[in-house]
Amino acid sequence: MTAFPAGTILGYPRIGRRRELKRAVEAFWAGRIDEAELEATAARLRAANRSRLIELGLGRDDSSIPESFSYYDQVLDAAVTVGALPTRFEDLRDADGTIGLPAYFTAARGEGDRAPLEMTKWFDSNYHYLVPEIGPETVFSLSSDRLVRELEEAVAAGLRTRPVIVGPVTLLALAKPSDAAGEGFDPLSRLDDVVPVYAELLAKLKAAGAEWVQLDEPALVSETLPADSAALADAARRSLTVLGGSDDRPAILVAAPYADLGTALPVLASAPVEAIAVDLVRGAVPAALPELEGKTLVGGVIDGRNIWRGDLAAAFAKLEALRDLGARRVAASTSTSLLHVPHDVEDETKLDARLVSWLAFADQKVGQIVTLARGLAEGRSVIRAELDAASAALSDRRDAPGVRDGAVRGRALSEADFVRAPYQDRERAQRALDLPVLPLTTIGSFPQTAEIRRARARFSRGEVPQDDYEAFLRSEIDRVVALQEGLGLDVLVHGEAERNDMVQYFAENLDGFAVTEHGWVQSYGSRATRPSILWGDVSRPAPITVSWASYAQSLSTKHVKGMLTGPVTILAWSFVRDDQPLSETANQVALALREEIADLEAAGIAIIQVDEPALRELLPLKKADHADYLDWSVGSFRLATGGAAAATQVHTHLCYSEFGVVIDAIRALDADVTSIEAARSRMEVVGDIKGSGFDHGIGPGVYDIHSPRVPGVAEIEALLRRATAELPLSRLWVNPDCGLKTRGYEETVASLRNIVEATRRVREDV
Ligand code: GLN
Ligand code: ZN
Repeated sequence: MTAFPAGTILGYPRIGRRRELKRAVEAFWAGRIDEAELEATAARLRAANRSRLIELGLGRDDSSIPESFSYYDQVLDAAVTVGALPTRFEDLRDADGTIGLPAYFTAARGEGDRAPLEMTKWFDSNYHYLVPEIGPETVFSLSSDRLVRELEEAVAAGLRTRPVIVGPVTLLALAKPSDAAGEGFDPLSRLDDVVPVYAELLAKLKAAGAEWVQLDEPALVSETLPADSAALADAARRSLTVLGGSDDRPAILVAAPYADLGTALPVLASAPVEAIAVDLVRGAVPAALPELEGKTLVGGVIDGRNIWRGDLAAAFAKLEALRDLGARRVAASTSTSLLHVPHDVEDETKLDARLVSWLAFADQKVGQIVTLARGLAEGRSVIRAELDAASAALSDRRDAPGVRDGAVRGRALSEADFVRAPYQDRERAQRALDLPVLPLTTIGSFPQTAEIRRARARFSRGEVPQDDYEAFLRSEIDRVVALQEGLGLDVLVHGEAERNDMVQYFAENLDGFAVTEHGWVQSYGSRATRPSILWGDVSRPAPITVSWASYAQSLSTKHVKGMLTGPVTILAWSFVRDDQPLSETANQVALALREEIADLEAAGIAIIQVDEPALRELLPLKKADHADYLDWSVGSFRLATGGAAAATQVHTHLCYSEFGVVIDAIRALDADVTSIEAARSRMEVVGDIKGSGFDHGIGPGVYDIHSPRVPGVAEIEALLRRATAELPLSRLWVNPDCGLKTRGYEETVASLRNIVEATRRVREDV
């Protein structure tokens, strides 16, 4: 058995440096290129990535390069590999039973009345995976040899790479029961059936030349999955006993990133595998190590989830600590796959050079790994220059102007800043808003048409003068306000046409943020976002949204909602400074928003929505960290909104329907009105809301905006009646599930019309 390489990464971005995969995949979906051409483009991308990693210093034939490509999602890849396709897609298999690209993409995206797999966030990240559906009827069988072919491709090029696949425990732990199985079914109960398929895959990989394979088992670190830690650890023991017990396999690296491995470490240490990767950025170096039985301990010391160059000397010290604890074989790695960071900071020609010197994107992180690996092999003194250079950049960053801004830091906060008037008093004061029963509203954005995108792109390229662009945006607001009035909505919005993205827009208008040019990170499938870099103290040089909100308000006698993104969501969808607690950064953002709210109030805006769709996403994977997280996240929202007058109605919007999980936090936000996704789950969430005793305004969504489908009047009416039956009428609002920006106008108008009509019918009976 060959030794594990001294340095590796757990995965590499797969969308391409210029999002080549996005373009190819979308061209294939649109029928502009055929499958062969798509495959050829993907193969070229993989080859380019391997060459780049070699150029950066990873080995050609030591298994240090991960084979971590995906056309859409790594969880879907694993599900398809073991044949776990829901029955509604079964007929799409190839004649020989394999699951080819047509079936793969249909499962990802849906088609006609075949609903796609559900999508949800991968651990506490903003990456979305597809949720496998598993039931007693699922037949596991090796149904795709894609991973084998990708390895063969590398071998043919004279390389030896390390195939990566989501492991059986994580695959099942992230799955939901199939429709046929029903709610009570536990997908993990199928573990013994799926493991033999993995064993078969490992044998094939070995035959194709793999010396190492990587099983990703991050489920082992999470305490927020349906399965508890003991069940997950037991599943790991059982599956690895089988997989490791076979002679016909490559050496196995089990990677369990995203948080501390904790009590699962001894389980992996005693399993018949050859290497274990632990996250030493989110997790700590353990106080003591279990007997490793000769295994390599792969220390994830370079942050896979953020873009800072960081403290390289401290990273090396963690690896040395593992050695001191008795690990005889130690390797350096990233804490997670690099799929969460952009490719290359060298591509950012417009960023401030000083900021650039503090950053490390994927390629720079590979360089850091190569350095650490050399240090492990040849001793610390050999890499002293690199460690010192990183330390120098770190101290330069510490002292740079803007990183610490006296004016921002000088503001003293008191308890009272976090508290509004009692809800009863606010409710009374807000009667002056004179809203009807079941007020109708939307979540904020209206469809972002090609015309809007084009205008914004031309403006940002400097091809259109500011005045013209703003006149265009005002004409959009005219149109959207007239549309809402014509439809008969009660609380209007300005439509958010000026926003490229609900976080980036604020980042561009606040001090302390930088925006990248090519810093794309996969969000799901072919979609990528360009997170901003929150590098310094945050402040608001000038009002951001006030002119748009007050222009919209000037057009109507109805109330127009002010529309802001909350501090937690701004943090969650940016790369955030790592040199102070998130709570401090969140409060700085909150104070900037608080000023914005005061200005909106002064401009006559009486209803202000502060979106926090990422509140659930950032919930830590460990229960012990929940109280602290909820304390600062909720606190920052309250600080942002705490200055609002009693008569100002504060709304929040949360997207997801996992209401129960964070109900205490939602209650503690103390918003006057909370809107939440509910249409997909047929209003199931009203039961949770009722049971929780939540007693502020609530708008459970009645229109699933993730689908182009127009809900009928009767269907919406039924949803509304379900809500009115369970919740007090005086607190209920009527709204879609989420913003309308990804929808087209035709379906949006038809759906809103049906919502208005359904509401009219329900109002008749109350
Ligand atoms: N106000 C935002 C919009 O309507 C909210 C989006 C979201 O929740 N993700 O687009
Ligand atoms: Zn939403």
